[in-house]
Amino acid sequence: MSDKFDVIVIGAGPGGYVAAIRAAQLGLKTAIIEKYQGKEGKTALGGTCLNVGCIPSKALLDSSYKYHEAHESFNVHGIGTGEVTMNVPTMVARKDQIVKNLTGGVAALIKANGVTLFEGHGKLLAGKQVEVTGLDGKIQVLAAENVILASGSKPVDIPPAPVDQDVILDSTGALDIQAVPGKLGVIGAGVIGLELGSVWARLGSEVTVIEAMDKFLAAADEQISKEAFKILSKQGLNILLGARVTGTEISGKQVTVSFTDANGEQKMTFDKLIVAVGRRPVTANLLSADCGVNLDERGFIYVDDYCATSVPGVYAIGDVVRGAMLAHKASEEGVMVAERIAGHKTEMNYDLIPSVIYTHPEIAWVGKSEQALKAEGIEVNVGTFPFAASGRAMAANDTAGLVKVIADAKTDRVLGVHVIGPSAAELVQQGAIGMEFGTSAEDLGMMVFSHPTLSEALHEAALAVNGHAIHIANRKKR
Ligand code: FAD
Ligand code: AMP
Repeated sequence: MSDKFDVIVIGAGPGGYVAAIRAAQLGLKTAIIEKYQGKEGKTALGGTCLNVGCIPSKALLDSSYKYHEAHESFNVHGIGTGEVTMNVPTMVARKDQIVKNLTGGVAALIKANGVTLFEGHGKLLAGKQVEVTGLDGKIQVLAAENVILASGSKPVDIPPAPVDQDVILDSTGALDIQAVPGKLGVIGAGVIGLELGSVWARLGSEVTVIEAMDKFLAAADEQISKEAFKILSKQGLNILLGARVTGTEISGKQVTVSFTDANGEQKMTFDKLIVAVGRRPVTANLLSADCGVNLDERGFIYVDDYCATSVPGVYAIGDVVRGAMLAHKASEEGVMVAERIAGHKTEMNYDLIPSVIYTHPEIAWVGKSEQALKAEGIEVNVGTFPFAASGRAMAANDTAGLVKVIADAKTDRVLGVHVIGPSAAELVQQGAIGMEFGTSAEDLGMMVFSHPTLSEALHEAALAVNGHAIHIANRKKR
């Protein structure tokens, strides 16, 4: 058996690699195990996020949005471009280069921090030992004072739509489509379905999104999700709600999808179909039968509020445990666990994890929705400000959407910030910073915001909470 480590991390996604770096910074002897082989047939760190998730999807969203603007709206500024074309393989290759740069960057950081990398499959054994099956099949057993399980998640498959990565794709396959499909079907109107659907709609695909639930973006504030439905539909996304996929049939290079909706059995034929119905935790061959770590009823590794599993000294973080499947949630859990192992009392504020959907306009929020607060019986005051009234948004020809600030009617404390609009993700983060420090709507309203900025919309929405907005007629103060 090799030397004992203070910390062994299984999985080098944004949860695992961040935990390993922070543990090493704190002076702990740390190892990380990763099995993923990237496109070039070499171990690639960074997990789903860097390889097949957050970053590659944003690369395609940015490329496709630039194309869309050049095609549809440069003329508004007086810019003539001639024929605008899109070379899809170049777009995909640019995305691959970004992935390569970033995963290489993580490898460099792991090394610079003195973390030992084991390339292969890790499995937790009893007594905090970890078995590593190397890429060459050789097995070694490592010992650790602490183990952090960060094995992440993978796409959910549904029996009616088996993925072949040719005609029926999961989110990974959808990042490598090499030509614009004439007709694209997307199953699932969640974050991933809407983002990937938007990429191809901008490039000219006729996109239909088939969603089983009757409600669109049920987790978002209802005012924002209604606005999002309107805006995305206007952009050409055909979003079918209350439509459950029951089967698919491939014929040649096309797929016919059967689904049931309020009108009964329906069929639609597509050139490509993306299955984006959620993700599930990766626990296969991760835990020996006698290691003592328990799963919860949904198959996630069971952990407490501090990511401790049922075995002392064994922790689990990120997508493999309860909570939002988001990279920033995984990373912060990684930091919390590394610091707690080092003896700090670090905690994480699970109430303030921002959510973002990178459509255009972006949809983002932090804290609670108006309907959730009302359901809890909390009386609220609400302020909204439309980007149509923002000088900066007008200058940028980007005026769809609004900012909504929700505050406790009794204390004025901000309980939710919800945005659909340009740079929504960045604006919501400002709300999150304020909320972390217990800001009131009045506090936000009293701050000086630069002019002209999109942030002024947040300022005005905060002022509107108490009926003081300057650049919009105020709703009566309740
Ligand atoms: P992962 O990133 O899944 O990493 C787990 C790692 O563990 C993998 O590299 C895997 O190979 C390795 N592993 C698993 N088992 C073993 C084992 N036994 N031995 C060795 N290695 C193992 N989140 C956001 O916050 N923002 C976004 O914009 C966003 N966009 C997304 C877009 C798409 C298309 C997808 C699919 C996801 C997106 N996500 C986004 C979600 C985000 O990618 C995940 O929440 C995040 O990657 C979870 O991090 P993690 O470290 O828990 O797991
Ligand atoms: P998310 O978990 O945010 O990625 O969203 C996945 C979406 O897919 C959810 O809104 C589900 O309701 C939806 N979904 C799951 N199964 C089906 C199905 N068979 N047909 C249509 N939509 C589905």
